[in-house]
Amino acid sequence: MNINFNKNNDGLVPAIIQDAQTKNVLMLGYMNQEAFNKTMETNLVTFYSRTKNRLWTKGEESGNVLHLVDIKLDCDNDTLLIQVNPNGPTCHKGSDTCWDEANTETFGFISKLENTIENRVKTGDASTSYVASLFASGINKIAQKVGEEAVEVVIEAKDQNDGLFLNESADLLFHYLMLLQAKGFKLKDVVTVLKEREQ
Ligand code: AMP
Ligand code: ZN
Ligand code: ZN
Ligand code: ZN
Repeated sequence: MNINFNKNNDGLVPAIIQDAQTKNVLMLGYMNQEAFNKTMETNLVTFYSRTKNRLWTKGEESGNVLHLVDIKLDCDNDTLLIQVNPNGPTCHKGSDTCWDEANTETFGFISKLENTIENRVKTGDASTSYVASLFASGINKIAQKVGEEAVEVVIEAKDQNDGLFLNESADLLFHYLMLLQAKGFKLKDVVTVLKEREQ
């Protein structure tokens, strides 16, 4: 790996630390050649600490080490992206990330949709919100809707109309997210079960 350590004439490159599973950014540190070598040898992320003026293996005191998964060099060879499996919270102030965030898995737009559903359930008006009104009619009704949408997906799967198939698929997923919400779960709970099966 041809890292340009001398862009800033200090022998250091920034290293962005990313959780290999959740893809969340955990912290930013700096590496010199020695820190990079030690990281490769030990598989524990080691920085050059500008405060301590020495090599610093993250977690050396706290035990909250960063297990190396992958290292990538950026387009102009001056910044590292390091994917890790963290052992415990990464920030010394106790949070999972150095930006005071929880390191939980998210699913982009689907997670945003889950939050919208949750907000409608909590504060939505049943006379104007479909989600709020379906919730007001009870969990059995929501479960029944999931069943109906599933049957519609089955029917459209037999057809050649891709548009209808995708629309019914969207209906099914949307109502399934509502059923999860009604049962007090999120999609991540289902994903956890799927991941356990993978091993
Ligand atoms: P640790 O490496 O977790 O054993 O922590 C040792 C010391 O390194 C702490 O007391 C902090 O001074 C510093 N430190 C630990 N984690 C971080 C971090 N994520 N960002 C900046 N400094 C840190
Ligand atoms: Zn760059
Ligand atoms: Zn921090
Ligand atoms: Zn439908």
